[in-house]
Amino acid sequence: MATADPVVEFADVRKTYDVGGPVAALAGVSLSLPRGSYTAVMGPSGSGKSTLLNLAGGLDTPTEGRVLVDGRDLSTATESELAAVRGTEVGFVFQTFNLLPRLTAVENVALPLVFDGWDRDRRRERASDLLTEVGLGDRLDHRPPELSGGQRQRVAIARALAPDPAVILADEPTGNVDTDTGDRIMDLLDDLHAAGNTVLLVTHERRIAERAERIVHVRDGVVEEVEAL
Ligand code: ADP
Ligand code: MG
Repeated sequence: MATADPVVEFADVRKTYDVGGPVAALAGVSLSLPRGSYTAVMGPSGSGKSTLLNLAGGLDTPTEGRVLVDGRDLSTATESELAAVRGTEVGFVFQTFNLLPRLTAVENVALPLVFDGWDRDRRRERASDLLTEVGLGDRLDHRPPELSGGQRQRVAIARALAPDPAVILADEPTGNVDTDTGDRIMDLLDDLHAAGNTVLLVTHERRIAERAERIVHVRDGVVEEVEAL
C-alpha cells in the first residue's frame, strides 16, 4: 500500500547536456513517488526516461531543481554521498543486466553488500536467500554466461534488492528478453511491489506499463500526463 510519505521527489528538475549546444533532456519535471507505490514512465525514444531514472538513482545530478531520495537532497550531494545513495538507497535493474561475467550469481548479488560492510558469510547467506526468492536457488554458483537472459535479469533483480533499497529503479528490464520471459520478470516486479517495495519502471511498451498503478507519460523532457490505472 502506498502512503503519502514520498521516497523520491522531483521538484522542477531540469537536466541539460551540452553537445555542441544545449540539449534539454528534462525541461522541468515535478514528480513524487509515494512509499510503496508502483509507477511506470512511458514515452518515445529520447524523451528523457532514462535521464529521469538516472537522476532518481544518483547516477547523475540535475542542472536545476531538486531531487530528494528518502529525504536526502541529491542535487547538492557530493560524489561520495551520491555513491552511498547508489549503494544502499536505490536498486538499479538495467536492460542489459550489467552483471560481472566472471563472478557467480551469488557473488554478483553479494557485491553491493561488500560496500555496505557485511561480512563474507552473511553476504553469501543473504545473496543465496534472494536468489532463492527469485527462483534461482539451483543456480547459485553459475556465472552469467551460463545463464539465460531471463535468469540473468533475475540475478540483477536479486542484486538490486540486496541492500534493501528504498526504491527499485528498472530501465526497460524486459528489453533484452523474449515476451514470455519478460512477463515472468514483470510478475517478479509485481511480487516485489506487493511485498511493499517502491518501484519506478521505464518502458516504451503500454502492455508492460499497465502493470503499474499509474503511468507517467513524458515527451520532450516534460510530463505530459499522469494516468491513473
Ligand atoms: P530515453 O531514455 O527516453 O530514450 P534519454 O533520457 O536517454 O531518453 O535521453 C533524453 C535526451 O537527452 C536525448 O536527446 C539524448 O540524446 C540526450 N542525452 C541523454 N544522455 C546524454 C548524455 N550523456 N550526453 C548528451 N546527451 C544526452
Ligand atoms: Mg532510455
